[in-house]
Amino acid sequence: MPYGASTRNAGFACFGSISELLDDLTRESEQEAFSRVEKRYRGLLKLRQKLGDINIQYEGLGGFEVFTPSDSLLFQECTNALNFFNDSLYKITGEVNTYSVVDDKISSMGFAGINHMISNRLEGQIDTGKMMYSLIERVKAAGVVILNGITIESFVNSDNGVVLRESSDFNFEAKKLLVCNNGFAKQLLPNAEVTPARAQVMVTSPIPELKLKGCFHYEKVITTLEM
Ligand SMILES: Cc1cc2nc3c(=O)[nH]c(=O)nc-3n(C[C@H](O)[C@H](O)[C@H](O)COP(=O)(O)OP(=O)(O)OC[C@H]3O[C@@H](n4cnc5c(N)ncnc54)[C@H](O)[C@@H]3O)c2cc1C
Repeated sequence: MPYGASTRNAGFACFGSISELLDDLTRESEQEAFSRVEKRYRGLLKLRQKLGDINIQYEGLGGFEVFTPSDSLLFQECTNALNFFNDSLYKITGEVNTYSVVDDKISSMGFAGINHMISNRLEGQIDTGKMMYSLIERVKAAGVVILNGITIESFVNSDNGVVLRESSDFNFEAKKLLVCNNGFAKQLLPNAEVTPARAQVMVTSPIPELKLKGCFHYEKVITTLEM
């Protein structure tokens, strides 16, 4: 298995909670924010289509944004914007009423201290280990060779393409190079506008009779209560 974020993330198959998108809109245009939502949404559909829901253990249980009594102002902002976001999402997904207030579901999920909840019915979750396993099987079947455990330190253009320099002085040659090393982009491409951000996943042992089903967001970011 590769050792990047793709095998160690929380498996949220999500494309935007309302407060997260409202926050994005304070810093960027509608066009920028919704084109990213569209990329996330279409990317997810593509992943499901290529690998299959069973193979990646996709479960469309929905995404839920939770609000405590001290978040009443934020909740008000989100409900005021509900129709705007449903209309904007319709243009991307062709689905109506993506977001809705689902306060009636709070008690069945076993929450304490939460008085409002907004759902995104098109969100879901995957098992990232199974997703990576299926992806590897698929690319292997297409004849791709995967070499894990190798750190590329630099690359230079050559007459035939590119020479990749590995840490132990072992060189690879390739006709084309695609750099997709995520938060480490600047190590190979110093001019890349990429700043790594830290994220954490907390894992518990199985909790008997856990009532939480789905992905949960709190306060603008994908802060999770998923288990
Ligand atoms: C803790 C955490 C939780 C997250 N939760 C979610 C979530 O719930 N839902 C969601 O959609 N997203 C989540 N994300 C984000 C998501 O995981 C990443 O956006 C995604 O996995 C990035 O995929 P990638 O292929 O670009 O990078 P990666 O999967 O990180 O792959 C990059 C690869 O490049 C390799 N590499 C790096 N430098 C070099 C080098 N010099 N030479 C050779 N190889 C190199 C790494 O070893 C790695 O294998 C989370 C991220 C983190 C860290």
